[in-house]
Amino acid sequence: MIPTQGYAVTGPKAAFEPFNFERRELGSRDILIDILFCGICHSDIHQARGEWGNSIYPMVPGHEIVGRVVRKGSDVSKFNEGDIAGIGCFVDSCRKCENCKRGLEQCCKVHCTMTYNGTEMDLVTPTFGGYSKNYVVDEAYALKVQPDQPLAGVAPLLCAGITTYSPLRKFKVGEGQKVGVVGLGGLGHMAVKLAASMGANVTVFSTSPSKEADARALGAHNFVVTSNPDNMTPLAGTYNFILDTVSANHDLNMYLNLLAYDGVMVIVGIPTKPHEIQAFSVIGNNRVLAGSGIGGIPETQEMLDYCAKHNITSDVEVISIDRIAEAYERTIKSDVRYRFVIDLSSMPV
Ligand code: NAP
Ligand code: ZN
Repeated sequence: MIPTQGYAVTGPKAAFEPFNFERRELGSRDILIDILFCGICHSDIHQARGEWGNSIYPMVPGHEIVGRVVRKGSDVSKFNEGDIAGIGCFVDSCRKCENCKRGLEQCCKVHCTMTYNGTEMDLVTPTFGGYSKNYVVDEAYALKVQPDQPLAGVAPLLCAGITTYSPLRKFKVGEGQKVGVVGLGGLGHMAVKLAASMGANVTVFSTSPSKEADARALGAHNFVVTSNPDNMTPLAGTYNFILDTVSANHDLNMYLNLLAYDGVMVIVGIPTKPHEIQAFSVIGNNRVLAGSGIGGIPETQEMLDYCAKHNITSDVEVISIDRIAEAYERTIKSDVRYRFVIDLSSMPV
């Protein structure tokens, strides 16, 4: 086993503390990655605080990982020592079911091993995430990252990037379409950059008036402050696609009503309470309400290559690992511009 260190919480109200644990010895298809940067996703906060009711403690969160390959098993062909690799939200799956064969490993019918707060395929061994020095992963579940990019800004692509790219692609968002992005946080700001790069006319729906200039700089064409219903009324029935990235409980009907005929709204935000939906909100204009969860390995690689080609990275605030608590508090207050990323060189030795 490989001794390592991370930062963990031991319960829903516990503070982050240094935590010693072990990574597995490399198998023939494994790579050992020294983590350079790890993004802080709101899902880390939900899980560290037990908000989804599925938390396993001690928990080392982190599933937006970029690092350098420092060792590889004898059968590894995709990576060499020195390469930059990424790890997203999951690190294994059955590889045999219909969904795995289609590259939809996140929907594996047997078991998807989440990068942290999960278990390995034995359903027993806990996984620990990227708020740590290193990770051992099967090369099939690691992504190739082009090294000549600002790597702190690449890390959030591994979750926020793919979670927004996948539904934009599935519903063929592009030129001539009016697209709404609800919530300008980690996912939301990536959705704006990606949808704008695909040629859509993008509106940000936000509770934070102070984010307007940033939204426009990110590529949005319009900015609507949602707290005033007068701002929403004239927009009813005019949007082709809306992506809802909001992490807290909120009213979906208000946004569904903005959809034009056959318009689609995709939920990616995961608040703690169930949504209440008026039947008329979807019956009017024959609207579609859908959900989307991260993305499989092939599409995640496609997204990373797309972002490298289009010079798209996340706007980040890089922090040392002793500042996780402060980053969580600011993220919850919608005061993140627009993703906190931990610089793992700050890990105490
Ligand atoms: P985030 O950075 O905290 O952004 C969420 C944004 O939602 C905030 O910046 C804020 O934007 C808005 N918001 C917050 N509270 C609100 C409220 N009470 N009413 C209306 N809007 C509010 O979070 P994130 O990392 O982007 O994650 C967003 C959600 O997606 C989380 O629930 C996370 O767990 C989930 N997620 C899902 C997937 C998936 O696969 N589906 C993947 C990753 C994350 P404004 O200031 O602009 O209003
Ligand atoms: Zn995430």
